[in-house]
Amino acid sequence: TLCVGVLAVQGDVREHINTIESLGGRAVPVRRPAELAALDGLIIPGGESTTMDRLTRIFGLAEPLRDLIGSGLPVYGSCAGMIMLSDVIADPSVDQLGQPQQSLGGLDMVVRRNAFGRQRESFETDLAFTGLAGHTPVRAVFIRAPWVEKVGDGVQVLAEVPAGGTPAAGPLEGTTGPRRGVPPGDTDAGAEPVARIVAVRSGNLLATSFHPEITGERRVHELFIRMIRGEA
Ligand code: GLN
Repeated sequence: TLCVGVLAVQGDVREHINTIESLGGRAVPVRRPAELAALDGLIIPGGESTTMDRLTRIFGLAEPLRDLIGSGLPVYGSCAGMIMLSDVIADPSVDQLGQPQQSLGGLDMVVRRNAFGRQRESFETDLAFTGLAGHTPVRAVFIRAPWVEKVGDGVQVLAEVPAGGTPAAGPLEGTTGPRRGVPPGDTDAGAEPVARIVAVRSGNLLATSFHPEITGERRVHELFIRMIRGEA
């Protein structure tokens, strides 16, 4: 069986491990550079990209990870993981020394952190997603999520939140969780609503702004496993 590592310095590691295992794969948390050698693929989870950046550098993981990404290791990043895989962060946070946060890069694109605006820090909606098994839309949960502001030529867009958002609805039955439905993503007053890119692929790299690992949606991870196998 193939072995998928989940970067385990911070974030929702367990949810990704559970999702991969529910698909019959083997998943292991990764904290040390020596653990990278055995991997067929790697997931960078959701969490906080600033912390993840700091800890991957402290643990000596950042450079080996950049090398692996460059050499074609399949990597999937959700939310903070998407930020880590982006070549450019539009609005990096800056530490006490004035140093901007860094990404690992690999995806030729610009992400904007926490992009969907204060009022809508969390929302949940259904999205069309290119390349997944079946035709049912993906239930997508966004938590202080980034969007992709610009992609280079080699980056394929797999999902977007449509301009004007999706129809608003109440919370899911039996939950007090995030509201369903998303209004226009733009936070700039007066801006024309535009569609916002929230899932991309380039070569062996896959990234989503949202968290399929927390909704029971397994098809994004299934796509990633097919990428590892060279079947997608
Ligand atoms: N806002 C977080 C960041 O900038 C990402 C949030 C998430 O992963 N749910 O890293």
